[in-house]
Amino acid sequence: MAAAESDRDPPSALCSEFLNFSARDTATRWLEAADLKHEVYRHLAVYVPRILCLGPTPGGGGAGSSREEQREELACQLLLLAPLEWFLLGEEPSTGLALLQEKNQPSPLCGHVFKVGEPTYSCRECAADPTCVLCMQCFLGSVHREHRYRMTTSGGGGFCDCGDAEAWNKGPYCHNHTPTANTRDSEADPTALLPADMVARGYSIFSIILKYAVDLLTWDQEDQVPAGLEPPERGDTYYCMLFNDEVHTYEQVIYTLQKAVSCSQKEAVSFATTVDRDGRKSVRFGDFQFCEQAKSVIVRNTSRQSKPLRVEVMHSSVVAHQCFALKALSWLGQVIQYSDGLRRTLCQVGLQTGPEGENSSLVDQLMLNDSKMWKGARNIYHQLLMNSLLMDLKYKKIFAIQFAKNYRRLQTDFLEDDHERVVSVTSLSVQLFTVPTMARMLMVEENLMKTIIRTFVDHLRHRDLHGRFQFDRYTAQQAFKFGRVQSLIGDLKYVLISRPSQWNDQLRVKFLEGLDAFLELLKCMQGMDPVVRQVGQHIEMEPEWEAAFTLQMKLTHIITMIQDWCCTDERVLIEAYRKCLSVLSSCHLPEGEQPISLSVAGHTVETFRYQVSQDKVSIHLPLYRLLAGLHVLLSRTEVASRFPEQLPLGELSPPLLIELPLRCLVLCAQVHAGMWRRNGFSLINQIYYYHNVKCRVEMFDKDIIMLQVGASMMDPNHFLMIVLSRFELVHIFSSDCRKRYREANKDVVQQNNTLIEEMLHLIIMVVGERYVSGVGQVEPLEEVRREIIHQLSIRAMAHSELVKALPENGNKETGLERVIDSVASFKKPGVTGRGLYELRPEWTKHFNLYFHHYSRADQSKAEEAQRKTRRQNGEDTALPPPRPPPLCPLFASLVNLLQCDVLLAVEGAVLHWAVEPSGGGWTESMLQRVLHLVGVALLEEQQQLENSSGDDDVTFNYTSKITRPGEAPSTSGSVLALLESLQNAPHLEVHKDMISWILKMVSNIKTMRERSCSTSTVAVSQGQGPEEMVRDKDKAERKRKADMARLRREKIMAQMSEMQKHFINENKELFQQSLEELEASTSAPPERSPPGLEPMCVSQVCVGPRRVGGAEPRQLVTCILCQEEQEVRGHGRAMVLAAFVQRSTVLSKNRRRSLPDPERHDPVFMHPDLSMGVHTASCGHIMHATCWQRYFEAVQLKEQRRQQRLRGHTSYDVENGEFLCPLCECLSNTVIPLLPQTRPPDPSVSHPSLEAWLKLTNQQTAVLRYTHRSQSGGVAEEAEPVVPEGFRVDFAPQNPFSSSVSEMVTAFSVSAYKVGLKVNPNEQDPRVPVVVWSTCAYTIQSIERLLMDEQKPLFGSLPCRQDDCLSSLTRFSSACWTSAPVTTTHTHFVRLFTALHPDASAADAPCVLDMDMFHLLVYTVLSYSSVHTLDQSRWSSVDSAHLHLLHLVTVAHLVQILLTSTTEEVCMDQDGAGSQEEELTCQLYDRLRKHLSSVLPEVTSGWQLYRRVKVGILPFLRSAALFFHYLNSTAPPADLLVAGPGQWEALCSYLSLPSNLLQLHQSQHTQLEPLIQRWCCHPGVRRSLQGGGAVVQFPRESNRLIDLPEDYSVLINQASSFTCPRSGGDKARAPTLCLVCGSLLCSQSYCCQTEVEGEDVGACTAHTFTCGAGLGLFLRVRESQVLFVAGKTKGCFYPPPYLDDYGETDQGLKRGNPLHLCAERYRKIERLWHQHGIAEVIGHAQEANQTLVAIDWQHL
Ligand SMILES: [Zn+2]
Ligand SMILES: [Zn+2]
Ligand SMILES: [Zn+2]
Ligand SMILES: [Zn+2]
Ligand SMILES: [Zn+2]
Ligand SMILES: [Zn+2]
Ligand SMILES: [Zn+2]
Repeated sequence: MAAAESDRDPPSALCSEFLNFSARDTATRWLEAADLKHEVYRHLAVYVPRILCLGPTPGGGGAGSSREEQREELACQLLLLAPLEWFLLGEEPSTGLALLQEKNQPSPLCGHVFKVGEPTYSCRECAADPTCVLCMQCFLGSVHREHRYRMTTSGGGGFCDCGDAEAWNKGPYCHNHTPTANTRDSEADPTALLPADMVARGYSIFSIILKYAVDLLTWDQEDQVPAGLEPPERGDTYYCMLFNDEVHTYEQVIYTLQKAVSCSQKEAVSFATTVDRDGRKSVRFGDFQFCEQAKSVIVRNTSRQSKPLRVEVMHSSVVAHQCFALKALSWLGQVIQYSDGLRRTLCQVGLQTGPEGENSSLVDQLMLNDSKMWKGARNIYHQLLMNSLLMDLKYKKIFAIQFAKNYRRLQTDFLEDDHERVVSVTSLSVQLFTVPTMARMLMVEENLMKTIIRTFVDHLRHRDLHGRFQFDRYTAQQAFKFGRVQSLIGDLKYVLISRPSQWNDQLRVKFLEGLDAFLELLKCMQGMDPVVRQVGQHIEMEPEWEAAFTLQMKLTHIITMIQDWCCTDERVLIEAYRKCLSVLSSCHLPEGEQPISLSVAGHTVETFRYQVSQDKVSIHLPLYRLLAGLHVLLSRTEVASRFPEQLPLGELSPPLLIELPLRCLVLCAQVHAGMWRRNGFSLINQIYYYHNVKCRVEMFDKDIIMLQVGASMMDPNHFLMIVLSRFELVHIFSSDCRKRYREANKDVVQQNNTLIEEMLHLIIMVVGERYVSGVGQVEPLEEVRREIIHQLSIRAMAHSELVKALPENGNKETGLERVIDSVASFKKPGVTGRGLYELRPEWTKHFNLYFHHYSRADQSKAEEAQRKTRRQNGEDTALPPPRPPPLCPLFASLVNLLQCDVLLAVEGAVLHWAVEPSGGGWTESMLQRVLHLVGVALLEEQQQLENSSGDDDVTFNYTSKITRPGEAPSTSGSVLALLESLQNAPHLEVHKDMISWILKMVSNIKTMRERSCSTSTVAVSQGQGPEEMVRDKDKAERKRKADMARLRREKIMAQMSEMQKHFINENKELFQQSLEELEASTSAPPERSPPGLEPMCVSQVCVGPRRVGGAEPRQLVTCILCQEEQEVRGHGRAMVLAAFVQRSTVLSKNRRRSLPDPERHDPVFMHPDLSMGVHTASCGHIMHATCWQRYFEAVQLKEQRRQQRLRGHTSYDVENGEFLCPLCECLSNTVIPLLPQTRPPDPSVSHPSLEAWLKLTNQQTAVLRYTHRSQSGGVAEEAEPVVPEGFRVDFAPQNPFSSSVSEMVTAFSVSAYKVGLKVNPNEQDPRVPVVVWSTCAYTIQSIERLLMDEQKPLFGSLPCRQDDCLSSLTRFSSACWTSAPVTTTHTHFVRLFTALHPDASAADAPCVLDMDMFHLLVYTVLSYSSVHTLDQSRWSSVDSAHLHLLHLVTVAHLVQILLTSTTEEVCMDQDGAGSQEEELTCQLYDRLRKHLSSVLPEVTSGWQLYRRVKVGILPFLRSAALFFHYLNSTAPPADLLVAGPGQWEALCSYLSLPSNLLQLHQSQHTQLEPLIQRWCCHPGVRRSLQGGGAVVQFPRESNRLIDLPEDYSVLINQASSFTCPRSGGDKARAPTLCLVCGSLLCSQSYCCQTEVEGEDVGACTAHTFTCGAGLGLFLRVRESQVLFVAGKTKGCFYPPPYLDDYGETDQGLKRGNPLHLCAERYRKIERLWHQHGIAEVIGHAQEANQTLVAIDWQHL
């Protein structure tokens, strides 16, 4: 161990200190000291620099630095912290602390502080707001587990709210934190439980240490330490300290460091990582000069574009004390965990006002210096604040007040700083403000609401002339600040999130003060970003719009919350309404220039000239919208009717109120009409967001409400005339200019048509939108329900889609869950897709085509869908308006719009145009809208009639108005008359049903009126009389009959149309069928089953001289590229099959085995652990070799050209020979040539016995071995072996193939070799044929396994493509030796044969336990052919050799299985008389025991052994059957075409084996016995069995993907405690789970990059190289995403097997619904893996989505 000795550190000077130091004595000395602070400081002054000032810690991590850290840690504990503990406790610290904890009476708060990525749970039913969360432990022990909960991952910081009664409406305590007798009353003083002297000692020592720490963390002198801490000896030792900022990138810092301190890239990365994590890091240690030099280089290098990186040269003693200050703070945090009393003491110390008066407590000092500290320091003291002040309810309040007092200053500091908010003390606001009582207290005592808003407004200083925000002139700096200042809105949200249940005068005053400030803020937004229509030129620069909308979006919830607050107190509401109105009137009012007077339909109104299309208009009108909201509240709370005298309703000028919102809506209409095209995307985006679900509640919706407010207070005719005027449409409806106008410019006509449509739609919304509680008489629930109904009327939707379509409230709730089940039914997802909600049919009658939140596209989709369902149900296709809910009294007069003269005139005009649709000035949409309006009016009248007792109080009389003849311009007749004449107009077929519906309504209403006239005289107050009931019954009966008749009619119609459809469908199928046939014929040989899958005679044999098959005369195939037919012949043009070769570890039983060294790997023997194999797959598409070559060249050329144009990868790697199959686009990287079938066996040849054959083959191999050795000149003294008769070593067989075929044979061999061994192509390498045999064997094995796992029959169940692939692969493998040098194949055969038939010369052969027998069988069979050609005597056939080889290998496998099936279980055996099989098994086993004596355990149960043998050998037999089936084209026996009994016998007979396999051994006893002995005597056998390595047992079990937990949060929790294995204890940011082996990796991070093949790759890619031979399946835990990676450049994401209750995945974990494992989906992924289909999935994904190609997969 000399080497280790030498690099051990020199003995430290500290060692002697340890020995001589006594913490107890020091503490005693301190106790006696007069000036404790002086003593403690003196101690620190001496020891701190000695312990923590030992120069540089090596950058790259490693053992040296961690040992250094450990020693430092130990010294700190023993020399510095232990005396403090002794002093505090007065006894041995570990005992003292234990005692403290025992006596402690903890508060019920959990307070667990979250780590990054840890799961947090919030209850959507019980949490006071979404920031209230539980840790996993508490959650699992709480009642919320059974509720609707949300799961997220923590961003770090924040703590568990378990035990905080204010955070939860229900179930505040989990199982563990339920208050018990031992729990302290939260009001009691916890220090009372401690001895008084300890409290006193605690107070004094905490004061000193906390003061020390605060002084040092806020210390800003680089060369001096605070007074009293001067080191005894001061050396010239400095640190060059680098600080982080958010301006410079990682790469910049790394680059600069390499230059400045000349370190390696690795060290630089490590420095940069630490700086990023801790906020600072010393990058150089030495004398002042030395450090100063590095500093100047860094500053110089980083100051070019921005302000330079911050670097300071600090004296080592300063750094040392700062380090200890952090340790001291952590120590404080730990000590107080033991005792609530000590915690209270520390809180007192921290918040004690200092000598400087206000804001001078130690905590104040920390807070106020927050932005000056580095990240690491901040994190540690924030953590301490959470452990102390926030856990003590009394001091939490005091701290909150202090925090609120300093709020403005803290925020200003934060805004000037550039660190993220999570490391700022301001982020503590979430802990303080979200407690409702606290928020209320701060609002009352510290005027918090006003403070926050004022601070916010003051930081947005840029204003225009009118005092409005102006964002378009923002510099980058200001924009950055704007981004940061938004966090204040978050604070405001916390303060307002829970509404007060009780008000007092103080709260009212402060809230209204806050509201004043808020109204000022809104005033600055009112009229922001005005736009003017661009005519002529397109705008040159898109104006800035995002900032204003960001602000609006952020404020949306605040505005809503303020309304919610107002709603809970009448006095506040009234006052707020007044204030809002007065601020509004102080704004500059709408500019009205020229007064004008308009008249339409005999009415006149005074207004002024204003045109949206020419003057300024702004989308931002928050004051109007807030007023609209408050107005609705006046109605909802009935304040308006109860205290009318207190409201300034008289001051309202309705035309002024509607003016600006109306302009905004007209702007939208004009944009739709294409009038603002030249204003660019900026405007389009604004309009989009105006209607978007994120903004509309406080934008579009409120504008509609404002129009409703105005219209309800105005003469409806006047209202409509103003609307017409703003739409610039008055001239069209006021005079006869329509005619003139028809001749006008076509664009103008179209514009006007759209405008008329939009205006009609607006009127529909103004009278019809009544689902806001306060406008209409509805419950809030009905509003959500209506939204959902309308979404689902478009189509069935997934839960997430619905959530996205609904507005969220401040609690991120949409209310969806409360109503969804009543209106929709849920359809579960299958293995793909997601769960969907479908509208229940009974709700379709609520469908409103002009639902105000539909976009035009939504509207037409919904219309189509609704008409379709109606048609399917055999109903008419009219989509009449649904019955609207009644209006609230304040809005009641809105209905008069429907029957006012102006609207009737408009309706009349449109109908009139529709009757004579000659010109272009009319559209069907217009008519449809008019019909809808008529429908709404009729419904209104009907409803009023129904609800009234008599005719008198029904003032609404639309039917009578539409029967009146129309006035100008439609002098032709009444609206009703027009409708009647339209009813049968041929060009209005679509609207026919709707018109009929209207006419029916009119007649219904008429009868109702007549009836009520008569009844009102008869039974005025009796309501429904018996007479009426009879009449109703009659009517109902009539209706029923009519309905029946209609239904019958419709049914017949439906049947007819169904028949028609059926016919088409049938033809479609026919059509499709023919297409498929066409495809099949091109993809496969025309005779689909040449090897005859039809079973023939039962005694079908596939191997040996009795084999059948291969009689197929000709095999014709078609080239997919040129469509020519071609016969498969050895001498013809080569035909090839597109194929994909890949390395595979799917069958691996040993993932720890490292990948073979490509150059030295010897593939001749496959180990039974199958740790890596080569798999070949094909899509089954056949081409001429020449056609394929031409195609591939074209692909290459295209790729070259593409690379010149744009850099980057394609989904396939052309340089590595990859291409996509020209027909099916399946990823391929080579082609397999098609070869003809083997000829049937020659019956004339004799079949030698095993003995004879063994003897001959032995002779032959001896000759070959001798010849090869003599050729290499190494047989000096060996005797020449006997050459068997007719065996000619020098015989050169003729290549049986044409050059075209040979070329392809070489091509495939080489690509299999290249991929399989990961080497450069080399035709001459003797390993080439071996790799080909190996891919044949491995592919067969993996398919056998797949069939077994899926319980499919061995034959007949494979898809064509696999069948084709296996048959061509096997035939090819048997011929591939022809392209290799003959001697290499001979050498291989000699080696293989010797392993089976060991002799003295075969010392290097592996033992029988180290060979996979199926591979051995395939290799020997395939290599034998080349040896056989040398035998010119022809007295034995290849077939008999195959059979002997099969028998030999089978026996070897039997031995292998017996050796490895150590039966440890107790043999509960039956009586001794077993079957013959069992006896023979026992005999063989006994023989083996004899050879190996003690190594094998004794076995008494032959039954059990035999069972194991039978099960163990089955996969081998099945694989062998597949192999010989494809090799010899023998039809399989019928029993193997189905799964079921009789498999074993059929299999054995097909393979020409006795069904009692042991007979093989028995019958050839004399031949085999010596072999068995030699196998057993191989030293490797004994070694393996005695535990020298893992022994593979048979049957090898299929590999499964790892088991995943049912509940996803278990995974998240696991991942959150996973730390990066490289950077000591850091949390991994992207923990990623390997689904194959279960390793957790630290992905996508610099720290875990590894060099693989000369390139730095991320942890996942690196892992794939060891675990999956380049292919990997992962689960990215924090993203809930499956990741597939192949090689370094390819990858894709795949939906995870976790679903929420709505049948949806949550990729990115954004939704937070609980996720559960879907076993079916997981099996699907597993099957994909088993099938070797991952690479293909990646290929398809990348083809479909080009952005995937650009991802740097190797960095994951
Ligand atoms: Zn907890
Ligand atoms: Zn708890
Ligand atoms: Zn709950
Ligand atoms: Zn061709
Ligand atoms: Zn294909
Ligand atoms: Zn793995
Ligand atoms: Zn890492």
